[in-house]
Amino acid sequence: MQNLLPALCFSFPLMLFSSNWYKGNTHVHTTLCGHADSTPEFVAQWYHDQGYNFLVLSEHNKFIDPSTVKLKRDVRTDFLLVPGEEVTAAVHSTAMNISRLVPWHHKDKNRSKVMQNHVDEISKAGGAMILNHPNFGRRIHSHEILPVKNLYMFELYNAHPGVHSFGNAHRPNLEQVWDALLEKGMKIYGVSSDDAHKLQKWGEKENNPGRGWIMVNSHELTSDAITQSMLRGDFYSSSGIMLEKLVRGDNHIEVSVDKDETARELESEFIFGRPVKKGVPGTFIDFIGPGGEVLKTVQGISASFETEGIYLRTKITLRVKKEDGSLREYYAWTQPVFTDGR
Ligand SMILES: [Zn+2]
Ligand SMILES: [Zn+2]
Repeated sequence: MQNLLPALCFSFPLMLFSSNWYKGNTHVHTTLCGHADSTPEFVAQWYHDQGYNFLVLSEHNKFIDPSTVKLKRDVRTDFLLVPGEEVTAAVHSTAMNISRLVPWHHKDKNRSKVMQNHVDEISKAGGAMILNHPNFGRRIHSHEILPVKNLYMFELYNAHPGVHSFGNAHRPNLEQVWDALLEKGMKIYGVSSDDAHKLQKWGEKENNPGRGWIMVNSHELTSDAITQSMLRGDFYSSSGIMLEKLVRGDNHIEVSVDKDETARELESEFIFGRPVKKGVPGTFIDFIGPGGEVLKTVQGISASFETEGIYLRTKITLRVKKEDGSLREYYAWTQPVFTDGR
């Protein structure tokens, strides 16, 4: 599935091998943490049966070896468990594609140093780090993230109802945090994830799976290839919108929405969208540059834009009027392109 595009449409024109799009989730919990309701097998089976291509079982300070997670018969060949852990201290980080448990103890209370410790320890275990839910609890500020070296991914959208991805009275929308980091020269990509704990009781207010995912463009479905593609920014994040085309050039981005695939996703009983109070229904493509400035908005399902600034990213919004008259928004966020050689 998700074989949407010939590879050469995507980013690097010199990429000579073919590639596919893979749907995945990098963050979910199991009974092993003590506060989630389903076993690793049940959780993995759910994602498998929903058509995902990969999943990271990211348990708090526990390494779940994928070889120990036994799915039912007839496992699809295009489904992969990527070894992982949620390294959990003053900061939470998904460690993906690790070979062993990553230690979480660190004596320093300074959160920049805790994050650096996570990056370094995850790297020693062969993996890559995603900084998780910066707006959870005592929020992590952009100035705390900025000094961290070799950090290339963070959770822009985490669908857990308690982590305030879109901000509130005391927290900015995480897109503002992202733009602050990008504007100051950081090369950091935005991930969308579920962070689900509940698969036995379902509802909009429940912390269920299926609401935040990434689409990764990779030449093969292996833990290494998926992780490397993500570290190159060869993926986009979604809370409902699927793309038909995504070109990230040297200084431009071209996107178009796959209406059929998006409609199929929104038929899901697991997705509710973000409630908003006002706005015109439709699809809107925002091209965003330094400082979070919206440089161009196109109403429609395809658009392109060339930038003169140091970076350019795209946010696609689908605003839908429901039968009860309420408005809901669904998004896709592409990774930025950089013109300053970072
Ligand atoms: Zn967490
Ligand atoms: Zn978590």
